Amino acid sequence: PSTPKHAILHGLNDAQRRAVTSDAATLAILAGPGSGKTHTLTARVAWLIDHVGYQPENIIVATFTVKAAREMKDRIGKALGNGREKKLILGTFHSIARRYLTTYGHHIGLSPKFGIADESDSRTSIERICKRLQLAVDPRAARMWISKKKAQGTEAAAKPTKGPAKPPSPQEAEFGTCYQEYQSHLEKSNLLDYDDLLVRCVELLRQFPRCVSNIQSVLVDEYQDTNGIQYELMKLLAQQHWRITTVGDPDQSIYGWRSAEIKNLRRMFQEFGRTERVSLEENYRSSQSILHLSMLVIKQDETRFDKTLKPVHDKGSRPVLRRLKSAAAEADWIVSEIRRVLMMSGSMMTHNDVSILLRSASLSRHIESSLGKAGIAYRMVGGHKFYDRAEIKTLIDYLRVIAQPENNVALARILNVPRRGFGEGTIKGLLQEAETSSLSVWAVLSKHCRGDRRSKTKITNVMEQKLSGGLLRPLEDIRKHIQGASGPDENPLGLVQIIEQLLVKLDFQKYLETAHADDHEQKWANVQEFIGLAAEFERDMDNSEEDFLPEIEGLQQTKEVEVLPRFLANVSLAADAQAGDEGQESKPHVTISTIHKAKGLEWPIVFVPAVYKSVFPHTRSEDDAEERRLLYVAMTRAQALLYLSCPLFNSNGNGERTELSPFVEPVKGSFLNKGPCFDRPVMQGIAKIIQRKLPPEETIFKGLPAMFSPEDNLFPVDPEEAKPVEGARAKRMRLQGPGYDGGEEVQWHS
Ligand code: ATP
Ligand code: MG
Repeated sequence: PSTPKHAILHGLNDAQRRAVTSDAATLAILAGPGSGKTHTLTARVAWLIDHVGYQPENIIVATFTVKAAREMKDRIGKALGNGREKKLILGTFHSIARRYLTTYGHHIGLSPKFGIADESDSRTSIERICKRLQLAVDPRAARMWISKKKAQGTEAAAKPTKGPAKPPSPQEAEFGTCYQEYQSHLEKSNLLDYDDLLVRCVELLRQFPRCVSNIQSVLVDEYQDTNGIQYELMKLLAQQHWRITTVGDPDQSIYGWRSAEIKNLRRMFQEFGRTERVSLEENYRSSQSILHLSMLVIKQDETRFDKTLKPVHDKGSRPVLRRLKSAAAEADWIVSEIRRVLMMSGSMMTHNDVSILLRSASLSRHIESSLGKAGIAYRMVGGHKFYDRAEIKTLIDYLRVIAQPENNVALARILNVPRRGFGEGTIKGLLQEAETSSLSVWAVLSKHCRGDRRSKTKITNVMEQKLSGGLLRPLEDIRKHIQGASGPDENPLGLVQIIEQLLVKLDFQKYLETAHADDHEQKWANVQEFIGLAAEFERDMDNSEEDFLPEIEGLQQTKEVEVLPRFLANVSLAADAQAGDEGQESKPHVTISTIHKAKGLEWPIVFVPAVYKSVFPHTRSEDDAEERRLLYVAMTRAQALLYLSCPLFNSNGNGERTELSPFVEPVKGSFLNKGPCFDRPVMQGIAKIIQRKLPPEETIFKGLPAMFSPEDNLFPVDPEEAKPVEGARAKRMRLQGPGYDGGEEVQWHS
């Protein structure tokens, strides 16, 4: 191909270039993993701005995770090089919806000060409702049911069912009751849950299409995992110019359990008129053998639509499938493999190049403990998040009540932290009072404190006795901590100021010392880190356009300037990002993630443990095909080395023997069953992959493993830099000795 004139098109293959520059109104890029879908979408956004001339504030880009949004913005920023990417409306569907609702929600009667109920808030509220109403249903099932109802979207809900409507089963009737109660509780607390963000935004854009009259183009990554309501939202966002680009891969649809609908793909072709399709057929991510084996797995699904996917890389080492005695032995083996591979690679790779992908977060116990014993730093994506730590959660709850005193969920959690002598019973009583009366807990408390006699008619006698029996003072305390904590309305305090004042008022350090004698220092350090994050947020906010939506003539905007609600929304929506992820590079660490959260990402080395029946497919899942796709997504994250493993006995304590996953069983002969082969071609392949990840001016030659010398001429590098590593020969001898120190291997059919 001729060299493109435009820098944005450099290095793209023909199909990718066609997709980037296409002027079709609706464009669907359908292609397999690692084919550069996200890469192409990113380039297309840059192209639309730089070449076509769209204003960034008129473009919406939806990504699946907060992390992906951040990465995409960075890359577009680099391509444009003038900071204009800051104005893009780019984020997850939820954050885009939130932005529209804070700015224009008042048009549909939403108070702009709404808070966001995160998953744990929703779950707690539903549990409480089930208990209070003595419902027989499992609160978790109720939560799923409610979420499903909301996620289906209004179109699906409005669709007439065929034949006479079936009367709801007793269980459904209970779910329905729970739904109603839950919704009224959210309304009273002025909260929206994740699903509501989408539902209300759909309502807004239906009634006030002018909110999006400026939008020229809408682009969606990971389209195969959109659900009904997201599909509606996408259409509404694009309603003005009807220019939509979607990017997806049906083989990677793994959110069916959360109501994602593959049929949205078909709907797009049916509903959007002429849609241009582009398929990308080269896989730039994985070695040939990794890709080959992954394809063998996915091809077991005979109902799927086959696509071409050709590797551009060398053969590489065959993936490894290893059976070990126990989950503990499996974890130890993974750790010893990590060490061995990193040693083999010289300093070419670091712990950052390794990830361990789990079917469910609960499988991490042994792995975390083995990594810990070996002193290897790791991060658990979306696992035990920074914001989930008790001390941080408490502070966040205080901030939420400060921003929004009617937030009953948060208020209930902080009433007795630090200890103030409220018993469980009192707190429950207060909540119940609030729920049965039409008051928020805060209102109940406030009236008590003010000694407003008349209002007490709503408070039961029992409650009154409890509250007057010595609890009035602490109540007054809380109120003092919270009221006015964000400063006067006309001149609100800064975020860090609010937090610091709160810490003083609560005497938080002292509280940690007394309540958590063992680890109060660590907890206090976390609090300091939290302040650091808040400071960073405050600083960034001054020069970021995060919440910006362009002015539209004749449409009134609420300009949210207050930092506290913005910070809190950011915390609630960053469920998949972690504190410390951003900013300066942290020390190298292994990543542990669930497969669901690893979507779209890649690592040179990937481990997938526990590939046995009951995990793959999972006992809780009814959709085997989706379970198989999940394994496929995991395997296709790997660039150079892929390891599957399986303990002989299952780790849940009942000591049952495991059976190899039926997805792996038919192809197990294609795996190696010891360590990978590290011959020269394999090492060369790895070196190329790593080199590709580095900025062009950097070369990995310095860190190449000892088996290479400058004469290998792997890359055109400055010969000065290509000096062989010190003592290379000696090191090589050591590394290539018997070497393999993996856990004890067991036979497949022993
Ligand atoms: P997934 O389905 O897993 O989301 P994807 O199709 O979005 O994968 P990308 O993540 O965009 O794939 O690309 C995979 C890798 O291939 C990335 O490292 C990307 O930089 C690289 N890549 C994509 N296109 C090219 C190209 N034309 N030349 C070189 N590298 C490329
Ligand atoms: Mg992608």
